[in-house]
Amino acid sequence: MSIEFRIRDFAYPKGIVRLRRFFEKSQWMHPDELREYQRHLLRRTVRQAYFHVPYYAQLFDALRLKPQDIRDVDDLWKLPLLSKEMVRANYGALRADNAKRFRPSVVCTSGTTGEPLRFLVDKPSNVLEFVYYWRHWSWAGYRPGDRFAQLRYDFFVNHPRMRDRVWHFQPHLQRLLLNPSVLSRHRIGEFARVLRAYRPKFLHSLPAHLRMLAEFLKEKHMDDIQFRAVFSSGEKLTQDERETVESAFGCKVLDSYGHMERSMAVSQCLNGGYHIHLEYGILELADTKQLEDGVVLGRVVSTSLHRMAMPFLRYDVEDLVELFPEQKRCPCGRTLPLLKTIHGRKREGILTSDGREIAWVFVPFQYVRGVRFYQYVQEELDRATVRIVKGQNYTPDNERILRFWFRRLFGDRVSFRIEYVSEKEIELDGTGKPLMLVRRLNPALRI
Ligand SMILES: [Zn+2]
Repeated sequence: MSIEFRIRDFAYPKGIVRLRRFFEKSQWMHPDELREYQRHLLRRTVRQAYFHVPYYAQLFDALRLKPQDIRDVDDLWKLPLLSKEMVRANYGALRADNAKRFRPSVVCTSGTTGEPLRFLVDKPSNVLEFVYYWRHWSWAGYRPGDRFAQLRYDFFVNHPRMRDRVWHFQPHLQRLLLNPSVLSRHRIGEFARVLRAYRPKFLHSLPAHLRMLAEFLKEKHMDDIQFRAVFSSGEKLTQDERETVESAFGCKVLDSYGHMERSMAVSQCLNGGYHIHLEYGILELADTKQLEDGVVLGRVVSTSLHRMAMPFLRYDVEDLVELFPEQKRCPCGRTLPLLKTIHGRKREGILTSDGREIAWVFVPFQYVRGVRFYQYVQEELDRATVRIVKGQNYTPDNERILRFWFRRLFGDRVSFRIEYVSEKEIELDGTGKPLMLVRRLNPALRI
């Protein structure tokens, strides 16, 4: 999950302070009290959906349901799942007729199936997101005003003059932005210099970028760069990545799992427990399967509790997770329940001969319409074939847009060949979903 706060997001200090105060207490509350609060938010969300969202008004009527029929998490089964496909097809009907009251803004993300997904976030969910991050980071000792570093490409990509810059410091946020698109063995010295100069206490990024930074610093024996804690989010963190990052920076990695749709959030405490933030959203499991040790495997289904401009009830997130057979108590003492494992869907990147892994292969496809599926196939370093299954609205202009983004994100070093294929030629993962990236590199070439 990646989050960008704009200045106007800080314009709600009252809402933030109020929710923050509550979140501070609620993480220690008795589980019954927490559930009661969650029920209260669920009922509010269901009322908003029924009285203001045409899609839900119709759905409830068709199912002969009234808002009072969904009073508890245990009542949610009465509603069908909301798939990403349904969100794409019903964008207009999912928008609340009173959305303006909540100061909505449109977010556009892209998954493995090419077509971007559009939805609304709003003021209440901005406040929530801010408070959620604040609480999670405070588990590692973060206080507002503490300096932190973030490896994220969007700022640098969106400011053409900054494209080749290694860093940018934002004094109002005490944030040191580092540019992962120029992170290489060759320029690691520049990253080390700026980290030594600014001495941020915390570091946040995608696991793949954290690992690259850690490995390159280690190779050059630059072991003086340390943090109080490192936060990873946005894709699955592997054990290997965790160990590399923890040993390089002399601190714990606190991983988190969530999504831009803001309907659920899970994050790790210093004891390693993956806590489900009950006050943030509702997390259910669909298609569950009991594994031999009693562990339950299932697909994440989430219900938003704060997004009033476009609430999602039982949204199919499509990630796999595991639950403990019985609820455990975390040694940290927090009463927020624990998730055992997050499988998610690992997002790999294109490998380059200078040792980089460029992970934002999904970005160019956020800017074109009419792509049913796409898939990168990498057989050589610095080179990849992009397979595209055209949809109805595909236009010849798309190729120009894609090439523009390839150049912008990958530079001249990586070359792409676009190939139009039929759906049958797209390779699928074990669960039958298209793989975003297929690597067929000779193992000796992988660095
Ligand atoms: Zn804990």
